[in-house]
Amino acid sequence: MHTILFCRVSSREQEETGYSLDAQEKLLKEYSNNKGLMVAKVFRISESASGKQIRKMFNEMLAFAVKNKINVIGCEKIDRLTRNLKDAATINDWVQDDPTRSVHFLKENFILNRNTRAHENLVWDMKVAIARFYTNNLSEEVRKGQKEKLAQGWFPAKPPVGYKTIGEHGHKTHVPDEQAPYIKRAFELYAEGNLSIGKLADILFSEGLRNHVGKKVTKPRLHIILSDPFYFGKMRWKGQILPAEHEPIITKDLYNSVQSKMKRKLSNQPAYRKHLPVFKAKISCEECGGMIAWELQKGNWYGHCNHYRPCKQRTSWRQERVEESLFPLFDKMTPKDPEVLDMIKKALKESQSTEIDYQAKAIEEVQMTLNSAERRLEAIYEDKIDGKIDSAFYARKFKQYSEEKENAQDELNKRTNPNYRYFEAGIVIHDLAQRAADIYKSPKATVEYKRRLLSRIFSNLTINADKIRVEYTKAFQFLAEWMPIINDTFEPPNILCLQGSNGDLDLSCPELRAYLYAFRTFDWCEAIEDIETTTQEINELLSLIE
Ligand SMILES: [Zn+2]
Repeated sequence: MHTILFCRVSSREQEETGYSLDAQEKLLKEYSNNKGLMVAKVFRISESASGKQIRKMFNEMLAFAVKNKINVIGCEKIDRLTRNLKDAATINDWVQDDPTRSVHFLKENFILNRNTRAHENLVWDMKVAIARFYTNNLSEEVRKGQKEKLAQGWFPAKPPVGYKTIGEHGHKTHVPDEQAPYIKRAFELYAEGNLSIGKLADILFSEGLRNHVGKKVTKPRLHIILSDPFYFGKMRWKGQILPAEHEPIITKDLYNSVQSKMKRKLSNQPAYRKHLPVFKAKISCEECGGMIAWELQKGNWYGHCNHYRPCKQRTSWRQERVEESLFPLFDKMTPKDPEVLDMIKKALKESQSTEIDYQAKAIEEVQMTLNSAERRLEAIYEDKIDGKIDSAFYARKFKQYSEEKENAQDELNKRTNPNYRYFEAGIVIHDLAQRAADIYKSPKATVEYKRRLLSRIFSNLTINADKIRVEYTKAFQFLAEWMPIINDTFEPPNILCLQGSNGDLDLSCPELRAYLYAFRTFDWCEAIEDIETTTQEINELLSLIE
């Protein structure tokens, strides 16, 4: 049997007792050896990992366990796995899902599985109970606070560029800051209609607009800014536009004119080129790496290696043959049963709203850390002026607080690019995967549309005499890895296991849950980059089959 090992040491332990990750791993390996368990993978959480990194690795571990059907996790002691209380509940669910699963805690000499007797389970149960109480309570509190804030007309999170937060905790409001004139100028320039977003970003940078880290505002960010109703005095929350109390920077007319300009730019059809082969510059020869050249013969396109380099490939591929080889790969990226897809999407949406709550809370916490570091920096400066502390002490404290401030600022910058917005794009990508073949075959799909569809899905295509090989783009690679697992699991009649009694999603299915973990922790920002353009482009492709 295989096992996963989980190691975690706090920095305090490391400093004070010299107990290291290596030592812990060694201990766990010896134990596994004695029990006849083969170690499949070791997950180590370093002393300096942030809360977010820990979560990410933890979810990766569970996803790995489910994906590779590994049913044993080894861990030094209960506290290692439950330092973050939410993780205790997650681990408990994982164990409850399947009677063959277990977690071995060495120090306590305790094996947790579904059949662990109640009295042995006491310590564990208490930790899980506390964890559930804590997380339920926390998100409820956050939701309550946000609702109240929204009802009063104030945005319950960090405002966009151009606004700052003022006021004490509980009475915070948002007012335009020194970046606001640049935001107004961005709208005005774009509304004139002759600028690309990239060019606009350059101009604003030369005029002085900076992002939170003092750099040029990126194209995707600028796109988000130009689409944000916040600037004309509304707020977008969970997909709804709500009335708001803050002072607008621009008029609604200006906003609307920018929206229609952006829409027009996107729907500008590329000129239809009759003699453009679909696969031009898209496929290379597996043997020599040269491009496949396409020729029109009696109304059909044929592709062969361009033979710029020495190469033995002589096969000629008809365009239709390439297409026939690609269609089955589209199917691999989507659930066989449309009902399963609907339920997955529903679960993802629920997951998204949890994420929004979580992010808002996290932002608030980081903001508090940042404020306190700034206050302390001010305080020690005063103390130094007043001669209350010597310069060595000042230098040491200055370094410490500056580091805290910098870390908090970094964290804040990361969080202001909220991952949950990428959920939306992730969900649309599911739609695209499901309909890809239909879109491609649609009579409305011009060569340009087909080419766009292909480059959304594949990053690389190569052929030899008898086979085509594909590499997926990051987002579709993710689907291509996971959907076969989902399809194996939900072969009819297993699909019933997906539904609870009221037709809602039953999350006790471990494969589905592993997939949701993976989706949540997947780096969508990196895979998609520009969310607005991506979503719009995909929706446009989908509209071809409406
Ligand atoms: Zn070749």
